[in-house]
Amino acid sequence: MKYVYLFGNGQADGTAEMKNTLGGKGANLAEMNHLKIPVPPGFTITTDVCSFYYKNNNSFPEELDSAVDNALKNTEDIMGSKFGDLENPLLVSIRSGARQSMPGMMETVLNVGLTSKTIPGLIKKTGSNRFVYDAYRRLIMMYADVVMEKAAGHEPKNGIGIRHKLESLIDVHKKELNYNNDTDLSGEDWKNLSDKFKTTIKDNLGSDFPDDPKEQLWGAIMAVIKSWNGERAINYRRIEKIPEKWGTAVNVQTMVFGNMGESSATGVAFTRNPATGENKFFGEWLVNAQGEDVVAGLRTPNPLNEETKTEGTKNLPSLELSMPSIYSELNKIRLNLEKHYKDMQDIEFTIQEGKLWMLQTRVGKRNGSAAIKMAVDMANQGMIDKNTALLRVRPEQLDELLHPMLDIKSEKEAVLLGKGLPAGPGGATGRAVFTADDAAEWHKKGEKVILIRDETSPEDVHGMHASEAILTAKGGMTSHAALVARGWGKCCIVGCSELQINIKNKEVNINGKKISEGDWITMNGTSGNIYKDRLNLIDADPDTHPEYKILMKWADEKRKLKIRTNAESPNDAFQAIKFGAEGIGLCRTEHMFFDESRILAVRKMIFADNEKDRRNAVMKLLPFQKEDFTGILKAMEGKPVTIRLLDPPLHEFMTLTKEQEISLAENLNVDVEIVKNRVSALHELNPMLGHRGCRLGIAYPEITEMQATAILEAAAELTKNGASVFPEIMIPLVGTVSEYVDQESIVRKVAKTVMEKYALELQYLVGTMIELPRACLTADEIAEHAEFFSFGTNDLTQTTYGFSRDDIGSFLPDYLERNILPEDPFQSLDVKGVGKLVSMAVKLGRNVNNHLKIGICGEHGGDPSSIHFCKENGLDYVSCSPFRVPIARLAAAQSELK
Ligand code: ADP
Ligand code: MG
Ligand code: MG
Repeated sequence: MKYVYLFGNGQADGTAEMKNTLGGKGANLAEMNHLKIPVPPGFTITTDVCSFYYKNNNSFPEELDSAVDNALKNTEDIMGSKFGDLENPLLVSIRSGARQSMPGMMETVLNVGLTSKTIPGLIKKTGSNRFVYDAYRRLIMMYADVVMEKAAGHEPKNGIGIRHKLESLIDVHKKELNYNNDTDLSGEDWKNLSDKFKTTIKDNLGSDFPDDPKEQLWGAIMAVIKSWNGERAINYRRIEKIPEKWGTAVNVQTMVFGNMGESSATGVAFTRNPATGENKFFGEWLVNAQGEDVVAGLRTPNPLNEETKTEGTKNLPSLELSMPSIYSELNKIRLNLEKHYKDMQDIEFTIQEGKLWMLQTRVGKRNGSAAIKMAVDMANQGMIDKNTALLRVRPEQLDELLHPMLDIKSEKEAVLLGKGLPAGPGGATGRAVFTADDAAEWHKKGEKVILIRDETSPEDVHGMHASEAILTAKGGMTSHAALVARGWGKCCIVGCSELQINIKNKEVNINGKKISEGDWITMNGTSGNIYKDRLNLIDADPDTHPEYKILMKWADEKRKLKIRTNAESPNDAFQAIKFGAEGIGLCRTEHMFFDESRILAVRKMIFADNEKDRRNAVMKLLPFQKEDFTGILKAMEGKPVTIRLLDPPLHEFMTLTKEQEISLAENLNVDVEIVKNRVSALHELNPMLGHRGCRLGIAYPEITEMQATAILEAAAELTKNGASVFPEIMIPLVGTVSEYVDQESIVRKVAKTVMEKYALELQYLVGTMIELPRACLTADEIAEHAEFFSFGTNDLTQTTYGFSRDDIGSFLPDYLERNILPEDPFQSLDVKGVGKLVSMAVKLGRNVNNHLKIGICGEHGGDPSSIHFCKENGLDYVSCSPFRVPIARLAAAQSELK
């Protein structure tokens, strides 16, 4: 097996395609050689060596030693210098590099090869004592930290690591000599410090800093491999879902120095602006500096060129003017790289005494807005085709354009209070309140508020609605707060365990900082960060983003799936249409019952013990419902609207306070005891599986009759007025065809009456929500009657797994942590189980009725991977919350391309 790949001098064993073996960094270093871009020569030790190391009890393959020797020889020949040579020593860096970039997660050791023997030769060659001892102390510091402490598993005493100890030696030294900057230190200073470093290392870590180049080399190689299993790297892998078995490659590369005087420099750049997407070369550089200096922020870096200067950098020197010929060479490389990789690149470069070297190139990270602009620009430039452009933007990245965002500048300067789970994206700012009622009250007075709770429940919904954002101490990404907020497109952070809420005093303590009622806070729901005070927000209006509109047009041309929205008010409907919704896939009706003017009628209906009283009560609701449906059907004119008949268990309408019990008793002219008894009789042990869905309409057919009448009369009146409306009446929670037939016949009868009354034909459908396994298993029977299926995948997931969505939070974290579930099945459809039921139902249903309209509603309708599944299974549409409509449009287009 080939364990070592050479690169240098315009030649390389590897290519960009070999990321699995060479890691991203190694593969691209090889590729740049093929492109004749100047890269310091070296070699890459493959990821197989890393795997071998962990599989074989932390040991290397036998043939590695000689392979590394040969590779080193090749590098030496190209450079005309020798590793460990007394006159002309070669120095190398040892760099990690996994398949997928894990920025800053693994280790790098620079200047390997400097020893007491090679130092004099290098001083003679460079003529600079200072340069050499500066390089030497950097080596000692990095080596002690990375190899001798971290890789060796040394637990630092009192938690203070060796790097920190060595750094404080520098500070002491500077203080003693009254120096301000590192640059004030002379060669002699660095030499003395190096000696002090070595004794400190020996004292603290118990061994000597190695003075043998080979020992340094292998120590560093091993440390890089060990950093694959460092804590930081493991955590990062878990978040990014990078498999452990990939391993890292190790790059050994000739050192080049940006700190050899005024004709030397170093920098990092992007081939286009990663924040805006503008096609402008964008980066930072420093003269007479090493790479880390730019990243570490010790010195303020300079702008790369004149055109990207800002107010803050306008007086700083650009590389373009300071080193024009190097800049033009770099710019050529930039264009060459983009042309070759057909994507924006993130590059690192170093200039050593007037010669430019490239140290790294990789596909650059970008924000959502920039991703869209670059994709569309590159397609228009002919660099990529439209399909590639559509695939370049992750659907979730659109989120950024759909919610107000925090101004990055003000975020940088703000005081961070704490961090939670980013449950609802975007930014929000408001004054702290601690109860839902307070939220509603403050909101009424025109205040912007943020509701802070331990957790939320359905009783808080009015306060949540009144708030700019919601912050909770408990709960995960599927908690009540998270689901509700996401549905509204509201900023939300959950599970922030640092919150210590004192409801009585109306204050919260976050990491030692106190926030009282009325204090301003700001949240970044995209990152989970919580800040003190009021920060600037930037408004969201995707229509002001020209490339967004183009990309969405391309997506609409490509996709075959229709995108509908879940909405229950004309306002939601308008918002969704603006985002491109083509219909309503789920209009729930229960919320319409909670209004103060209606709830009494609902309660009277529940209390009725004979059909006549019940009918009387129910029919009181008819005019209200008719008004609701008129509003929503009109808002969606020309588009289909699926309306679900009443679904929740009745006790949800019957949570009464003492006063409410009394007033209801008065209203019904009965004893309070009777009210109490009836309420407790409604109690169910497991309401989720209780008297709800079509089971309500079967027990109380008047409800179905009233709702069908309201829908169809609204439709008839709108039709009379020249509007074209398409209601689809959906019967919930059907498990047997007989349930469906029972309810359907009521609807059909009503339809007949309405059409006769208004003397017109109505276009309407009757269908069912498929949310029980039995409905899937007998979908053929149901499809003989139903005109459409809509998969209610929230309930279908609950009933298939037997997981309660409201209770999963208590054990889901364990399940995810221990890989018992790959992800939350309420967020991303469980294709294997729930998906199998869906596929089966689609096949069974279409077999008996190939016109059967099929869609999906619920959380999954806006989840890209679930959308992919819907496309593969031949669904007609997906339905999601208004704010996810654009995401679904793009995901649907991508599902045609994958
Ligand atoms: P990361 O993957 O964390 O970015 P790198 O391997 O890119 O780590 O190394 C970090 C920095 O070390 C680089 O940005 C560069 O400044 C410096 N560096 C690495 N190798 C060399 C080299 N051969 N010559 C000069 N500087 C180097
Ligand atoms: Mg790097
Ligand atoms: Mg349901």
